[in-house]
Amino acid sequence: MSSNPHVIVIGGGSTGCGIARDLSMRGVDVTLVEQGNLTHGTTGRMHGLLHSGGRYAVADQASAKECMIENRILRDIADHCVEETGGLFVKRPEDSEEYFQKKLEGCKECDIPAEVLSGEEAREMEPYLAKDVEKAIRVPDGAVDPFRLCVANAASAEEHGARIETHAPVVDVLKEGDEVVGVEVEHESGPGKRVHREPGTREEIRGDYVVNATGAWAGEIGEMAGLEKEIEVRPGKGVMTIMNTRQVDTVINRCKPKGDADIVVPHETTCILGTTDVEVDDPEDYPEEQWEVDLMIDTLSELVPIVEEARTIRSFWGVRPLYEPPGTGTSDSTDITRDFFLLDHSERDSVENFTSIVGGKFTTYRMMGEDISDHVCDKLGVDAECRTDEVPLPGSEDFSVLRDYMDEFGIRSPIGRRSAQRLGSRTDEC
Ligand SMILES: Cc1cc2nc3c(=O)[nH]c(=O)nc-3n(C[C@H](O)[C@H](O)[C@H](O)COP(=O)(O)OP(=O)(O)OC[C@H]3O[C@@H](n4cnc5c(N)ncnc54)[C@H](O)[C@@H]3O)c2cc1C
Repeated sequence: MSSNPHVIVIGGGSTGCGIARDLSMRGVDVTLVEQGNLTHGTTGRMHGLLHSGGRYAVADQASAKECMIENRILRDIADHCVEETGGLFVKRPEDSEEYFQKKLEGCKECDIPAEVLSGEEAREMEPYLAKDVEKAIRVPDGAVDPFRLCVANAASAEEHGARIETHAPVVDVLKEGDEVVGVEVEHESGPGKRVHREPGTREEIRGDYVVNATGAWAGEIGEMAGLEKEIEVRPGKGVMTIMNTRQVDTVINRCKPKGDADIVVPHETTCILGTTDVEVDDPEDYPEEQWEVDLMIDTLSELVPIVEEARTIRSFWGVRPLYEPPGTGTSDSTDITRDFFLLDHSERDSVENFTSIVGGKFTTYRMMGEDISDHVCDKLGVDAECRTDEVPLPGSEDFSVLRDYMDEFGIRSPIGRRSAQRLGSRTDEC
Protein backbone atom coordinates (compact mmCIF):
# COMPACT_ATOMS: atom_id res chain seq x y z
CA MET A 1 0.00 0.00 0.00
CA SER A 2 1.21 3.54 -0.78
CA SER A 3 2.14 5.82 2.16
CA ASN A 4 -0.99 7.90 1.57
CA PRO A 5 -3.81 5.46 0.91
CA HIS A 6 -6.16 6.08 -1.99
CA VAL A 7 -9.87 5.36 -1.58
CA ILE A 8 -12.33 5.25 -4.48
CA VAL A 9 -15.90 6.18 -3.61
CA ILE A 10 -18.57 5.15 -6.13
CA GLY A 11 -21.69 7.34 -6.09
CA GLY A 12 -22.15 11.12 -6.05
CA GLY A 13 -25.28 11.32 -3.91
CA SER A 14 -25.37 12.65 -0.36
CA THR A 15 -23.78 9.47 1.02
CA GLY A 16 -20.85 9.34 -1.42
CA CYS A 17 -20.16 13.08 -1.17
CA GLY A 18 -20.34 12.89 2.63
CA ILE A 19 -17.84 10.02 2.65
CA ALA A 20 -15.50 11.83 0.23
CA ARG A 21 -15.52 14.89 2.48
CA ASP A 22 -14.92 12.92 5.65
CA LEU A 23 -12.04 10.83 4.29
CA SER A 24 -10.31 13.71 2.54
CA MET A 25 -10.50 15.81 5.72
CA ARG A 26 -8.65 12.95 7.44
CA GLY A 27 -5.85 13.24 4.90
CA VAL A 28 -6.81 10.24 2.76
CA ASP A 29 -6.51 10.54 -1.05
CA VAL A 30 -10.01 10.21 -2.46
CA THR A 31 -11.48 9.80 -5.92
CA LEU A 32 -15.26 9.98 -6.18
CA VAL A 33 -16.85 8.69 -9.38
CA GLU A 34 -20.47 9.33 -10.35
CA GLN A 35 -22.28 8.07 -13.42
CA GLY A 36 -24.33 11.26 -13.93
CA ASN A 37 -24.03 14.63 -12.27
CA LEU A 38 -23.93 15.00 -8.48
CA THR A 39 -27.45 14.35 -7.06
CA HIS A 40 -28.30 12.27 -10.16
CA GLY A 41 -29.84 9.52 -7.99
CA THR A 42 -32.25 9.60 -5.07
CA THR A 43 -30.57 12.64 -3.52
CA GLY A 44 -31.93 14.80 -6.34
CA ARG A 45 -35.40 13.27 -5.98
CA MET A 46 -36.28 13.43 -2.32
CA HIS A 47 -38.68 15.43 -0.18
CA GLY A 48 -36.22 17.81 1.44
CA LEU A 49 -37.31 17.09 5.01
CA LEU A 50 -34.61 17.55 7.61
CA HIS A 51 -36.02 14.92 9.92
CA SER A 52 -36.30 15.59 13.62
CA GLY A 53 -36.83 11.83 13.92
CA GLY A 54 -40.45 12.36 14.93
CA ARG A 55 -41.69 10.25 12.00
CA TYR A 56 -39.78 7.22 13.32
CA ALA A 57 -40.19 7.84 17.05
CA VAL A 58 -42.65 4.98 17.55
CA ALA A 59 -41.70 2.28 15.04
CA ASP A 60 -37.98 2.83 14.30
CA GLN A 61 -36.32 4.46 17.29
CA ALA A 62 -32.74 3.76 16.16
CA SER A 63 -33.35 5.90 13.05
CA ALA A 64 -35.25 8.50 15.07
CA LYS A 65 -32.31 9.04 17.44
CA GLU A 66 -29.82 9.29 14.58
CA CYS A 67 -32.03 11.83 12.79
CA MET A 68 -32.23 14.10 15.83
CA ILE A 69 -28.47 14.00 16.39
CA GLU A 70 -27.81 14.87 12.75
CA ASN A 71 -30.59 17.47 12.62
CA ARG A 72 -28.74 19.42 15.33
CA ILE A 73 -25.37 19.07 13.57
CA LEU A 74 -26.66 20.09 10.13
CA ARG A 75 -28.36 23.19 11.49
CA ASP A 76 -24.92 24.10 12.75
CA ILE A 77 -22.55 23.19 9.90
CA ALA A 78 -24.96 23.80 6.99
CA ASP A 79 -27.34 26.55 8.01
CA HIS A 80 -27.19 27.93 4.45
CA CYS A 81 -28.83 24.70 3.21
CA VAL A 82 -31.42 24.38 5.98
CA GLU A 83 -34.56 26.30 6.84
CA GLU A 84 -35.63 25.89 10.45
CA THR A 85 -39.34 25.64 9.77
CA GLY A 86 -40.26 23.43 12.72
CA GLY A 87 -42.78 20.64 12.30
CA LEU A 88 -46.19 19.58 13.60
CA PHE A 89 -47.70 16.12 13.98
CA VAL A 90 -51.40 16.90 13.75
CA LYS A 91 -54.29 14.76 14.97
CA ARG A 92 -57.64 14.70 13.23
CA PRO A 93 -60.76 13.41 15.05
CA GLU A 94 -60.50 9.97 13.44
CA ASP A 95 -56.80 9.55 14.38
CA SER A 96 -56.00 7.44 17.42
CA GLU A 97 -55.42 9.17 20.77
CA GLU A 98 -53.38 6.18 21.87
CA TYR A 99 -51.01 6.66 18.93
CA PHE A 100 -50.74 10.40 19.65
CA GLN A 101 -49.58 9.56 23.18
CA LYS A 102 -47.16 6.92 21.85
CA LYS A 103 -45.67 9.49 19.47
CA LEU A 104 -45.18 11.95 22.32
CA GLU A 105 -43.60 9.29 24.51
CA GLY A 106 -41.42 8.06 21.61
CA CYS A 107 -40.12 11.59 20.97
CA LYS A 108 -39.11 11.88 24.61
CA GLU A 109 -37.37 8.49 24.50
CA CYS A 110 -35.43 9.58 21.41
CA ASP A 111 -34.40 12.97 22.81
CA ILE A 112 -36.59 14.84 20.30
CA PRO A 113 -37.93 18.09 21.81
CA ALA A 114 -41.73 17.73 21.64
CA GLU A 115 -44.49 20.04 22.84
CA VAL A 116 -48.26 19.49 22.69
CA LEU A 117 -50.32 22.30 21.14
CA SER A 118 -54.10 22.62 21.13
CA GLY A 119 -55.90 22.79 17.77
CA GLU A 120 -56.28 26.57 18.21
CA GLU A 121 -52.59 27.03 18.98
CA ALA A 122 -51.64 24.94 15.95
CA ARG A 123 -53.96 27.04 13.72
CA GLU A 124 -52.47 30.23 15.10
CA MET A 125 -49.14 28.98 13.77
CA GLU A 126 -50.66 27.62 10.56
CA PRO A 127 -53.92 29.39 9.64
CA TYR A 128 -54.66 27.03 6.72
CA LEU A 129 -54.70 23.95 8.93
CA ALA A 130 -58.07 22.13 8.87
CA LYS A 131 -60.57 23.41 11.44
CA ASP A 132 -61.12 19.93 12.86
CA VAL A 133 -57.46 19.32 13.71
CA GLU A 134 -57.76 18.64 17.44
CA LYS A 135 -54.18 19.01 18.60
CA ALA A 136 -50.59 18.69 17.52
CA ILE A 137 -47.08 17.85 18.67
CA ARG A 138 -44.46 20.45 17.78
CA VAL A 139 -41.00 19.04 16.84
CA PRO A 140 -37.83 20.54 15.29
CA ASP A 141 -38.34 19.27 11.70
CA GLY A 142 -36.83 21.47 8.99
CA ALA A 143 -36.49 21.89 5.24
CA VAL A 144 -33.18 21.10 3.57
CA ASP A 145 -31.93 21.75 0.03
CA PRO A 146 -30.32 18.47 -1.09
CA PHE A 147 -28.67 20.03 -4.16
CA ARG A 148 -26.80 22.68 -2.21
CA LEU A 149 -25.85 20.32 0.59
CA CYS A 150 -24.55 17.63 -1.73
CA VAL A 151 -22.49 20.08 -3.80
CA ALA A 152 -21.15 21.70 -0.62
CA ASN A 153 -19.85 18.31 0.53
CA ALA A 154 -18.23 17.57 -2.84
CA ALA A 155 -16.69 21.05 -2.87
CA SER A 156 -15.28 20.57 0.61
CA ALA A 157 -13.82 17.21 -0.44
CA GLU A 158 -12.17 18.90 -3.42
CA GLU A 159 -10.80 21.64 -1.20
CA HIS A 160 -9.17 18.85 0.80
CA GLY A 161 -7.58 17.33 -2.28
CA ALA A 162 -10.21 14.87 -3.53
CA ARG A 163 -10.78 14.22 -7.23
CA ILE A 164 -14.49 14.43 -8.07
CA GLU A 165 -15.23 12.80 -11.40
CA THR A 166 -18.84 13.15 -12.55
CA HIS A 167 -20.29 11.68 -15.76
CA ALA A 168 -18.04 8.69 -15.33
CA PRO A 169 -20.07 5.51 -14.81
CA VAL A 170 -18.23 2.59 -13.30
CA VAL A 171 -18.37 -0.17 -15.89
CA ASP A 172 -16.21 -2.67 -14.04
CA VAL A 173 -14.76 -3.33 -10.61
CA LEU A 174 -11.12 -4.39 -10.99
CA LYS A 175 -9.94 -7.41 -9.05
CA GLU A 176 -6.73 -9.33 -8.54
CA GLY A 177 -7.67 -12.66 -7.04
CA ASP A 178 -10.02 -11.91 -4.14
CA GLU A 179 -8.83 -8.32 -3.80
CA VAL A 180 -10.60 -5.33 -5.27
CA VAL A 181 -7.90 -3.04 -6.69
CA GLY A 182 -9.90 -0.31 -8.43
CA VAL A 183 -12.62 0.50 -10.92
CA GLU A 184 -12.91 1.11 -14.63
CA VAL A 185 -14.99 4.12 -15.70
CA GLU A 186 -16.21 5.34 -19.06
CA HIS A 187 -16.00 9.11 -19.43
CA GLU A 188 -18.95 11.09 -20.72
CA SER A 189 -19.52 14.80 -21.24
CA GLY A 190 -21.53 16.89 -18.79
CA PRO A 191 -22.90 20.39 -18.15
CA GLY A 192 -21.19 23.10 -16.11
CA LYS A 193 -17.66 24.41 -16.31
CA ARG A 194 -15.81 21.29 -15.32
CA VAL A 195 -13.35 19.77 -17.72
CA HIS A 196 -14.13 16.12 -18.39
CA ARG A 197 -11.93 13.56 -20.09
CA GLU A 198 -12.57 12.71 -23.73
CA PRO A 199 -16.12 11.28 -23.97
CA GLY A 200 -16.13 7.58 -24.80
CA THR A 201 -12.67 6.95 -23.37
CA ARG A 202 -12.20 4.47 -20.57
CA GLU A 203 -9.96 4.85 -17.54
CA GLU A 204 -8.76 2.38 -14.95
CA ILE A 205 -8.56 4.03 -11.53
CA ARG A 206 -6.57 2.01 -9.03
CA GLY A 207 -6.95 2.38 -5.28
CA ASP A 208 -6.29 0.75 -1.93
CA TYR A 209 -9.97 0.55 -1.04
CA VAL A 210 -13.32 0.89 -2.84
CA VAL A 211 -16.52 2.10 -1.17
CA ASN A 212 -19.81 1.34 -2.88
CA ALA A 213 -22.18 4.23 -2.06
CA THR A 214 -24.55 3.78 -4.97
CA GLY A 215 -27.78 3.54 -2.98
CA ALA A 216 -30.48 1.77 -4.96
CA TRP A 217 -27.81 0.67 -7.50
CA ALA A 218 -25.58 -1.04 -4.90
CA GLY A 219 -26.50 -4.50 -6.18
CA GLU A 220 -25.19 -3.71 -9.68
CA ILE A 221 -21.77 -2.72 -8.34
CA GLY A 222 -21.80 -5.86 -6.16
CA GLU A 223 -22.36 -7.93 -9.29
CA MET A 224 -19.45 -6.19 -11.07
CA ALA A 225 -17.26 -7.16 -8.11
CA GLY A 226 -18.37 -10.76 -8.55
CA LEU A 227 -19.98 -11.08 -5.12
CA GLU A 228 -21.62 -14.45 -4.78
CA LYS A 229 -24.29 -13.14 -2.44
CA GLU A 230 -26.53 -10.46 -3.92
CA ILE A 231 -26.74 -7.06 -2.16
CA GLU A 232 -30.47 -7.03 -1.64
CA VAL A 233 -31.44 -3.39 -1.74
CA ARG A 234 -35.22 -3.09 -1.84
CA PRO A 235 -35.98 0.04 -3.88
CA GLY A 236 -39.20 1.75 -2.80
CA LYS A 237 -40.56 4.52 -5.04
CA GLY A 238 -42.33 7.59 -3.72
CA VAL A 239 -44.08 10.53 -5.39
CA MET A 240 -43.78 14.20 -4.46
CA THR A 241 -46.02 16.98 -5.80
CA ILE A 242 -44.87 20.61 -5.86
CA MET A 243 -47.59 23.20 -5.20
CA ASN A 244 -47.68 26.71 -6.64
CA THR A 245 -47.44 28.57 -3.33
CA ARG A 246 -46.22 28.07 0.18
CA GLN A 247 -49.49 27.11 1.85
CA VAL A 248 -47.77 26.30 5.16
CA ASP A 249 -44.62 27.59 6.82
CA THR A 250 -44.18 24.56 9.07
CA VAL A 251 -43.69 20.90 8.11
CA ILE A 252 -47.13 19.31 8.59
CA ASN A 253 -47.17 15.57 9.35
CA ARG A 254 -50.27 13.50 9.98
CA CYS A 255 -50.05 11.82 13.39
CA LYS A 256 -50.97 8.26 12.46
CA PRO A 257 -49.04 4.98 12.40
CA LYS A 258 -48.21 4.85 8.71
CA GLY A 259 -49.74 5.57 5.39
CA ASP A 260 -49.36 7.40 2.13
CA ALA A 261 -49.75 11.14 1.65
CA ASP A 262 -49.12 12.24 5.20
CA ILE A 263 -46.66 15.14 4.97
CA VAL A 264 -46.35 18.67 3.54
CA VAL A 265 -42.90 20.29 3.50
CA PRO A 266 -42.54 24.04 2.80
CA HIS A 267 -39.62 24.93 0.52
CA GLU A 268 -38.80 28.55 -0.21
CA THR A 269 -41.89 29.79 -2.11
CA THR A 270 -43.56 26.39 -2.57
CA CYS A 271 -44.83 23.39 -0.65
CA ILE A 272 -44.11 19.78 -1.55
CA LEU A 273 -46.69 17.10 -0.80
CA GLY A 274 -45.63 13.51 -0.20
CA THR A 275 -45.45 10.63 -0.44
CA THR A 276 -45.96 6.95 -1.28
CA ASP A 277 -43.81 3.85 -0.81
CA VAL A 278 -44.18 1.15 -3.44
CA GLU A 279 -41.50 -1.48 -3.94
CA VAL A 280 -40.08 -1.52 -7.50
CA ASP A 281 -37.67 -3.82 -9.33
CA ASP A 282 -35.55 -1.30 -11.20
CA PRO A 283 -34.47 2.08 -9.73
CA GLU A 284 -34.21 3.55 -13.27
CA ASP A 285 -37.44 2.24 -14.74
CA TYR A 286 -40.75 2.27 -12.89
CA PRO A 287 -44.25 3.59 -13.60
CA GLU A 288 -45.10 7.18 -12.58
CA GLU A 289 -48.84 7.08 -12.08
CA GLN A 290 -51.51 9.76 -11.84
CA TRP A 291 -53.34 7.97 -9.01
CA GLU A 292 -50.34 8.66 -6.80
CA VAL A 293 -50.59 12.41 -7.44
CA ASP A 294 -54.38 12.41 -6.94
CA LEU A 295 -53.87 10.60 -3.65
CA MET A 296 -51.49 13.35 -2.47
CA ILE A 297 -54.02 16.11 -3.15
CA ASP A 298 -57.10 14.24 -1.86
CA THR A 299 -55.54 13.00 1.35
CA LEU A 300 -53.44 16.00 2.27
CA SER A 301 -56.33 18.41 1.72
CA GLU A 302 -57.82 16.76 4.83
CA LEU A 303 -54.99 18.44 6.74
CA VAL A 304 -54.60 21.64 4.69
CA PRO A 305 -57.88 22.16 2.76
CA ILE A 306 -56.63 24.90 0.40
CA VAL A 307 -54.37 22.31 -1.22
CA GLU A 308 -57.51 21.05 -3.00
CA GLU A 309 -57.96 24.39 -4.83
CA ALA A 310 -54.28 25.14 -5.42
CA ARG A 311 -52.38 24.62 -8.65
CA THR A 312 -49.68 21.97 -8.85
CA ILE A 313 -46.43 22.83 -10.59
CA ARG A 314 -45.19 19.31 -11.23
CA SER A 315 -44.70 15.92 -9.64
CA PHE A 316 -41.55 13.85 -9.42
CA TRP A 317 -40.62 10.43 -8.13
CA GLY A 318 -37.62 9.02 -6.28
CA VAL A 319 -36.51 5.57 -5.15
CA ARG A 320 -35.50 4.82 -1.56
CA PRO A 321 -32.38 2.66 -1.22
CA LEU A 322 -33.87 0.55 1.56
CA TYR A 323 -32.02 -2.44 2.96
CA GLU A 324 -32.72 -5.00 5.60
CA PRO A 325 -30.42 -7.78 6.76
CA PRO A 326 -31.05 -11.18 5.13
CA GLY A 327 -33.75 -13.21 6.83
CA THR A 328 -35.71 -10.17 8.08
CA GLY A 329 -38.33 -10.68 5.36
CA THR A 330 -40.51 -7.60 5.95
CA SER A 331 -43.42 -7.93 3.53
CA ASP A 332 -44.57 -4.27 3.48
CA SER A 333 -41.79 -1.95 2.27
CA THR A 334 -43.12 0.88 4.48
CA ASP A 335 -42.06 -1.24 7.47
CA ILE A 336 -38.43 -1.65 6.36
CA THR A 337 -36.03 0.15 8.67
CA ARG A 338 -34.63 3.53 7.57
CA ASP A 339 -31.38 2.70 9.36
CA PHE A 340 -28.14 2.19 7.44
CA PHE A 341 -25.77 -0.78 7.21
CA LEU A 342 -22.12 -1.31 6.31
CA LEU A 343 -21.52 -4.49 4.35
CA ASP A 344 -17.89 -5.44 4.84
CA HIS A 345 -17.31 -7.70 1.84
CA SER A 346 -14.21 -9.17 3.41
CA GLU A 347 -16.33 -10.71 6.19
CA ARG A 348 -19.46 -11.25 4.12
CA ASP A 349 -18.05 -12.49 0.80
CA SER A 350 -14.30 -13.00 1.31
CA VAL A 351 -13.65 -10.14 -1.13
CA GLU A 352 -11.01 -7.76 0.24
CA ASN A 353 -10.72 -3.94 0.13
CA PHE A 354 -14.38 -3.40 -0.61
CA THR A 355 -17.32 -2.21 1.54
CA SER A 356 -20.85 -1.17 0.61
CA ILE A 357 -23.02 1.24 2.55
CA VAL A 358 -26.76 0.82 2.12
CA GLY A 359 -30.02 2.17 3.54
CA GLY A 360 -30.19 5.33 5.64
CA LYS A 361 -31.67 8.77 5.08
CA PHE A 362 -30.48 11.99 3.56
CA THR A 363 -30.67 13.51 7.06
CA THR A 364 -28.15 10.94 8.34
CA TYR A 365 -25.71 11.15 5.40
CA ARG A 366 -22.96 12.73 7.55
CA MET A 367 -23.19 10.06 10.23
CA MET A 368 -23.09 7.38 7.52
CA GLY A 369 -19.96 9.05 6.14
CA GLU A 370 -18.38 9.09 9.59
CA ASP A 371 -19.12 5.42 10.28
CA ILE A 372 -17.77 4.15 7.00
CA SER A 373 -14.74 6.46 7.14
CA ASP A 374 -13.92 5.09 10.62
CA HIS A 375 -14.24 1.60 9.16
CA VAL A 376 -12.06 2.31 6.11
CA CYS A 377 -9.42 4.17 8.16
CA ASP A 378 -9.31 1.23 10.54
CA LYS A 379 -8.73 -1.13 7.61
CA LEU A 380 -6.02 1.11 6.13
CA GLY A 381 -4.29 1.90 9.41
CA VAL A 382 -5.08 5.63 9.18
CA ASP A 383 -5.19 7.27 12.59
CA ALA A 384 -7.32 10.40 12.13
CA GLU A 385 -10.50 11.69 13.72
CA CYS A 386 -13.71 12.73 11.99
CA ARG A 387 -14.19 16.51 11.88
CA THR A 388 -17.26 16.83 9.67
CA ASP A 389 -19.51 17.46 12.66
CA GLU A 390 -17.74 20.69 13.58
CA VAL A 391 -16.32 22.27 10.42
CA PRO A 392 -18.93 24.33 8.53
CA LEU A 393 -19.51 23.48 4.87
CA PRO A 394 -18.38 25.78 2.03
CA GLY A 395 -20.76 28.69 1.55
CA SER A 396 -21.72 28.93 5.23
CA GLU A 397 -19.99 32.26 5.63
CA ASP A 398 -20.08 33.55 2.08
CA PHE A 399 -22.92 32.06 0.06
CA SER A 400 -21.36 33.09 -3.27
CA VAL A 401 -18.70 30.41 -2.71
CA LEU A 402 -21.36 27.70 -2.95
CA ARG A 403 -23.08 29.45 -5.86
CA ASP A 404 -19.80 29.30 -7.79
CA TYR A 405 -19.43 25.58 -7.06
CA MET A 406 -23.03 24.96 -8.19
CA ASP A 407 -22.24 26.75 -11.46
CA GLU A 408 -19.06 24.80 -11.87
CA PHE A 409 -20.86 21.47 -11.51
CA GLY A 410 -23.70 22.72 -13.71
CA ILE A 411 -26.29 22.12 -11.00
CA ARG A 412 -29.13 24.47 -10.23
CA SER A 413 -31.32 23.91 -7.23
CA PRO A 414 -34.92 23.74 -8.54
CA ILE A 415 -35.93 25.07 -5.14
CA GLY A 416 -33.59 28.06 -5.38
CA ARG A 417 -34.57 28.67 -9.02
CA ARG A 418 -38.28 28.84 -8.23
CA SER A 419 -37.54 31.32 -5.49
CA ALA A 420 -35.54 33.44 -7.89
CA GLN A 421 -38.36 33.45 -10.45
CA ARG A 422 -40.73 34.78 -7.82
CA LEU A 423 -38.49 37.04 -5.80
CA GLY A 424 -36.01 38.22 -8.44
CA SER A 425 -32.94 39.87 -7.01
CA ARG A 426 -34.23 39.47 -3.47
CA THR A 427 -33.14 35.85 -3.48
CA ASP A 428 -29.78 34.14 -3.56
CA GLU A 429 -30.36 31.94 -6.57
CA CYS A 430 -28.34 28.80 -7.13
C1 LIG B 1 -39.62 9.71 -2.27
C2 LIG B 1 -38.47 9.89 -1.33
C3 LIG B 1 -38.49 10.91 -0.39
C4 LIG B 1 -37.44 11.04 0.52
N1 LIG B 1 -37.47 12.07 1.39
C5 LIG B 1 -36.48 12.20 2.29
C6 LIG B 1 -36.51 13.30 3.18
O1 LIG B 1 -37.38 14.15 3.10
N2 LIG B 1 -35.51 13.39 4.09
C7 LIG B 1 -34.50 12.47 4.17
O2 LIG B 1 -33.65 12.60 5.05
N3 LIG B 1 -34.43 11.43 3.30
C8 LIG B 1 -35.39 11.29 2.36
N4 LIG B 1 -35.35 10.27 1.46
C9 LIG B 1 -34.22 9.32 1.51
C10 LIG B 1 -32.98 9.94 0.87
O3 LIG B 1 -33.32 10.67 -0.27
C11 LIG B 1 -31.97 8.88 0.51
O4 LIG B 1 -31.76 8.03 1.61
C12 LIG B 1 -30.62 9.50 0.12
O5 LIG B 1 -30.78 10.58 -0.76
C13 LIG B 1 -29.77 8.43 -0.51
O6 LIG B 1 -28.55 9.00 -0.91
P1 LIG B 1 -27.42 8.08 -1.53
O7 LIG B 1 -26.27 8.94 -1.79
O8 LIG B 1 -27.22 6.90 -0.64
O9 LIG B 1 -28.06 7.52 -2.86
P2 LIG B 1 -28.18 8.28 -4.27
O10 LIG B 1 -28.51 9.70 -4.10
O11 LIG B 1 -29.10 7.47 -5.11
O12 LIG B 1 -26.71 8.20 -4.83
C14 LIG B 1 -26.17 7.04 -5.43
C15 LIG B 1 -25.44 7.49 -6.66
O13 LIG B 1 -24.73 6.40 -7.22
C16 LIG B 1 -24.68 6.64 -8.61
N5 LIG B 1 -24.34 5.41 -9.33
C17 LIG B 1 -25.11 4.33 -9.50
N6 LIG B 1 -24.48 3.43 -10.27
C18 LIG B 1 -23.28 3.96 -10.60
C19 LIG B 1 -22.19 3.52 -11.40
N7 LIG B 1 -22.20 2.35 -12.05
N8 LIG B 1 -21.12 4.33 -11.52
C20 LIG B 1 -21.06 5.53 -10.89
N9 LIG B 1 -22.09 5.99 -10.14
C21 LIG B 1 -23.18 5.22 -9.99
C22 LIG B 1 -26.07 7.14 -8.94
O14 LIG B 1 -26.10 7.83 -10.17
C23 LIG B 1 -26.37 8.02 -7.74
O15 LIG B 1 -26.09 9.39 -7.99
C24 LIG B 1 -36.36 10.14 0.51
C25 LIG B 1 -36.32 9.13 -0.47
C26 LIG B 1 -37.36 9.03 -1.39
C27 LIG B 1 -37.30 8.00 -2.45
